[in-house]
Amino acid sequence: MNLLIFGPPGSGKGTYASRLQSKLEIPTIATGDIFRKMAKEETKIGKMVAEYMRKGELVPDSTVVRELKKHLSAKDCEKGFILDGYPRTIKQARILDDFAKVDALIHLIVSDWIIIERLSSRRICRECGEVYNIRFLKPKRSGICDQCGGRLYQRFDDTIKVIKGRLEVYNEQTAPILEYYKERVPFIEFKCESVDIPPEVAVSEILNGLKHIS
Ligand code: AMP
Repeated sequence: MNLLIFGPPGSGKGTYASRLQSKLEIPTIATGDIFRKMAKEETKIGKMVAEYMRKGELVPDSTVVRELKKHLSAKDCEKGFILDGYPRTIKQARILDDFAKVDALIHLIVSDWIIIERLSSRRICRECGEVYNIRFLKPKRSGICDQCGGRLYQRFDDTIKVIKGRLEVYNEQTAPILEYYKERVPFIEFKCESVDIPPEVAVSEILNGLKHIS
């Protein structure tokens, strides 16, 4: 199955994708993670990517599409994949259509004010990528990952100013993609605003939705 996990920054795409990938045994390709890795490299392209990310703007399509194709053509994607963070524009959606079929879109719905609250208190494990929130989804030991004992860090684009910019980009350029896909692929919509719903419960609802599609 080729799945898109779709929603504003901070809607839980990474959290759900990491749980879905182990249940479905297909890898997650997260373009944001790919670019964060590139941005750490002292190369010309790494520096260029870092500059776009620092401002919360979209990385140019030529770079995005090259990276995407490289990752999707890897052997572990043969049985399917979960795409997190791509497509971000209708143009990117059309490009994807040319080389992969999308079987379903998982749409995570969260209001802007909750996103701002959530992202500004989000922390991520440096080692395994597990996501925490210092207000709602605290690790057992402060600053330490429950899963692997790695140190937690705050993303440099999780500051209020950059979050607002990323939300603007999402609402203007990315949200219209939903209309594009509505006529083309089945949707699983999930409102994930309540912090009382454990990720496992949300994931089992999503898996239930997927059963009705496949
Ligand atoms: P994310 O982790 O998905 O929130 O992405 C972090 C940043 O990576 C975004 O703010 C963009 O600068 C860049 N990025 C990730 N995916 C894409 C994409 N599909 N197209 C362009 N830029 C992207």
